[in-house]
Amino acid sequence: MRKKLIVGNLKMNPLTPTEFGRYLDMLERETNGKNFEKTEIVVCPPAVYFRQFLERKMKDVKLGAQDVYWEYQGAYTGEISAGMMKSNGAEYSIVGHSERRKYFGENEEIINVKLKAILKSGLNAILCIGESGEERKSNETASVLKKQLEKSLAGIGIGKTEYITVAYEPIWAVGTDKVPSSDEILEAKIIIKKILAELYSRKAVEKMRILYGGSVKSSCAGQVCVDPAMDGALIGRESLTPYEFIKIASLVDGG
Ligand code: PEP
Repeated sequence: MRKKLIVGNLKMNPLTPTEFGRYLDMLERETNGKNFEKTEIVVCPPAVYFRQFLERKMKDVKLGAQDVYWEYQGAYTGEISAGMMKSNGAEYSIVGHSERRKYFGENEEIINVKLKAILKSGLNAILCIGESGEERKSNETASVLKKQLEKSLAGIGIGKTEYITVAYEPIWAVGTDKVPSSDEILEAKIIIKKILAELYSRKAVEKMRILYGGSVKSSCAGQVCVDPAMDGALIGRESLTPYEFIKIASLVDGG
């Protein structure tokens, strides 16, 4: 059985290395003595903190990137390639986060080239997809998920599928404190699996993890992760509080 996956997206936090040091102290305290047999835990801090993270040599927490640039190397001021993330210790990278789509104009074509760069570099990808509130209201969830998956995965062969995790993150639930019901999440999971099975094969899809993301807290982890049998969660705000983050990981691990 493939392990579940809990990912913390720290976004543009914390502000200083001192604060990040305190964060790591708390994370170490929360994970010490706990045994996550069924769950991998990944934290995605800003890349400037990678070295500081790795110096802690945490045995239960892996390092992830929040984003990558699709080119390998060169005159791309301000960007960091997937290969650089990998050679600096990352094992995973998020791609297609709704904030990248909203604030940086990322569309499926961009997400597709980023995803290819992530896989080529040897990183594991966490591909975020999800409908807006408007799209849900007008019953477009299934068609939006289909379009996002087909375009983002275009040209990516079946041999790479085991390195891809799909995070279902309805945009209306990210950063809002609104969460879908277990049934709504289960329905989205079934839709995603069906689309992936059409693109690849049912057997390949069995190896792909489907996470839920959007306002996950320990108080609703049962409803959004355990009841719809998700393979884990992508967590924003609550990952900034190691006590809550690890509590969610423990609930998912035991679920
Ligand atoms: C996210 O940013 O991916 C996310 C799920 O954020 P939050 O948990 O804060 O809704």
